[in-house]
Parts: sequence; structure tokens; C-alpha cells
Amino acid sequence: MAGVAELTTPWRVHAVMPRSGANGPGTRYVVWSQGCSLGCAGCFNPETHEAARGGVVRSVGEVAEEVLAAADRLEGVTLTGGEPLEQPAAVAAFCAEVRARSGLGVIVLTGFTRREIEADAARAAAVADADLVVAGRFNPRLHLASGLRGSSNKEHWHRTGRYGTAELAAVPEAEIAIGDDGSLIFTGMREALR
Ligand code: SF4
Repeated sequence: MAGVAELTTPWRVHAVMPRSGANGPGTRYVVWSQGCSLGCAGCFNPETHEAARGGVVRSVGEVAEEVLAAADRLEGVTLTGGEPLEQPAAVAAFCAEVRARSGLGVIVLTGFTRREIEADAARAAAVADADLVVAGRFNPRLHLASGLRGSSNKEHWHRTGRYGTAELAAVPEAEIAIGDDGSLIFTGMREALR
């Protein structure tokens, strides 16, 4: 469980989606972090790259309470971006809080490789409470139009046995939701909608 001070950690968030069916098994709360310096060619989310501007700065505790209030209607949370592990303290505190206070599963999608995560104490701490980490740079030459891996070089790093191959294979390729303001929200693999 995160401490009081950790729950005040600022987290620059690009967007959230309270109910998603295409960002991992089951119904999930999705948090897109704002900021990514990894510069993968062909990135689908360039609007998430700017780290100093864009999105909204929230506290870890605020986001966690929002998720926990809906926990009985969710299978889990998915953290994506942008690059979640470029705000490792926020991600670590959020995952610790969710893990301690609910049975929700945790998936982290990151451009860092497993080796890069394990070599860095802050990044390693950020995924300590994850069930699954999808790790590695997006490579457009190895692009996949399905599943949680945007390209085949990305690794499924199973940290627990919660999400197996069958559960991941059953994740829909994409979804379109209608936002509170009536706007259409796309998430998933774009090719699935072409
Ligand atoms: S890590 Fe993700 S958000 Fe960052 S450039 Fe690569 S694909 Fe885009």
C-alpha cells in the first residue's frame, strides 16, 4: 500500500477511460500517461509525447480512488501512454495502492525493454505490482494488428500467472466508445477498423 506522501505524487495523465474492453482481458480502467521520449518510428500516439505540457497533472491518490470506487465492475487496470515508466514514482505508488486495496489485475504497456526496466531501480519498482508487462519499443516493420503487442518484438513479461495466452488472445482488436461530450474515442489497433 502506498504511503500518504506517495499518494500525493503528481502524475501527468494524458487521458483515462473508465471502462475499456480492448486494453487487456475483461473490463478495464485505462490510464494514458503523458510524456514519452523514446521516439519510436510510426508511433500512433504522438500527442502523448510532450512531457512538460499536455494532459492534466493529477495526484496518484485521486486517480487510485477513482479506480477503486469502480473496482466491483472491473477486472483490472491498464497503464499505457505515452510512457508510464517515465513517471515511475507515480506508477509505483498507484499500482501499490490498487494492489493493496483491491483484487484488480494490473497491466503495464511500456516502450522500455525488460532489460532496461530491470537495470533501473525506479522502473523496476514501478512494475513490481504488475501482473503483466508488455515491454519493448514499437517497431512498425514488425507491426501486429491484434493483441496488446503493437509489434512482434515486444515481450509479454508475465510477473504472475493471472493473464495467460488464452486470455490475451481473446482481447478484442479495437473498440470505439462515446465520450461524455459525445465525441468518439478510439482505442486498440487501428488496422482493425480499416
Ligand atoms: S514508447 Fe509508445 S508512446 Fe513512446 S514513442 Fe514508442 S510507441 Fe510511442
